[in-house]
Amino acid sequence: MTSIPCLTTNNDVEIPQLGFGVFQIPLDETRAAVTSAIDAGYRLIDTAQGYDNEEGVGAALAGVEVNRADLFITTKLANSEQGYDTALAAFDVSAHKLGLDVVDLFLIHWPLPMFDQYVGTWRALEQLQAAGRVRSIGVSNFAVEHLERLLQETDIVPAVNQIELHPEFPQDELRAFHRDHGILTQAWGPLGQGKGLLSHPLLVRLAASKGRTPAQVVLRWHLQIGNLVIPKSVTPRRIRENMNIFDFDLGDDDLQAIEELRTDRRLGPDPRTMDMR
Ligand code: NAD
Repeated sequence: MTSIPCLTTNNDVEIPQLGFGVFQIPLDETRAAVTSAIDAGYRLIDTAQGYDNEEGVGAALAGVEVNRADLFITTKLANSEQGYDTALAAFDVSAHKLGLDVVDLFLIHWPLPMFDQYVGTWRALEQLQAAGRVRSIGVSNFAVEHLERLLQETDIVPAVNQIELHPEFPQDELRAFHRDHGILTQAWGPLGQGKGLLSHPLLVRLAASKGRTPAQVVLRWHLQIGNLVIPKSVTPRRIRENMNIFDFDLGDDDLQAIEELRTDRRLGPDPRTMDMR
């Protein structure tokens, strides 16, 4: 079975470069989806309090015959739970649902700058790391200004920022900021969320010339620009297809061609104005 390469976080934790995201997988389908992903070779599972399927992830973890140390489980703090005390209490609920003593990565899901709680919330995550309840802590959907504030006002530099990122929206500025500050970039919506990217003629042509699928070419692009990536699928064939990206390379000319897909338009909400709690 393919083994997935890892990157190392700024606190020396190994994190698989490819993982399996479970956004919008209904609770009653999550156990089966996560089990087939782990059977296919995935070792990182990305869930969130807001996905309402942490118990399904927990059920899958309890049933698979893979050592806990070989699995990497990420969850994220719900927007409604920001604040120091609420974040600590919400973490306990997640750990219980997942059936885990220690979670590998805990993220603040959105910065919600209009409520100005993310610095206090981050202090709670720092406390969880100090207490050994999480191996690494990070953020999601943070813009440069939100990261700068954490760097100025708190002690731990986020290990990861999980952000919308795909060839149409490659996030050059944030990736450069992450590189300069030792933060790993993790791409959500890496395949463009099934909204047309994968049928772009340029990608279809490029994939055919490599004997690969458009999804494999896009995932390979992510790996080669240094991203962690967490594609989602509930289709076993696609779950396996999305894993088979470690035995080919894109050349400089291929990477240059993919640059033409850039629109610099988001598919999801803008973190500066997203205020849903
Ligand atoms: P994605 O880009 O992974 O797209 C998923 C869709 O792409 C699938 O529903 C399917 O329609 C299609 N697809 C998958 N594999 C394919 C293949 N091989 N061929 C053709 N089509 C294929 O988008 P996503 O699900 O939004 O993002 C992935 C993960 O990122 C989520 O499951 C979740 O864990 C995470 N996420 C995080 C945030 C956040 O705010 N932090 C937001 C959205 C998603």
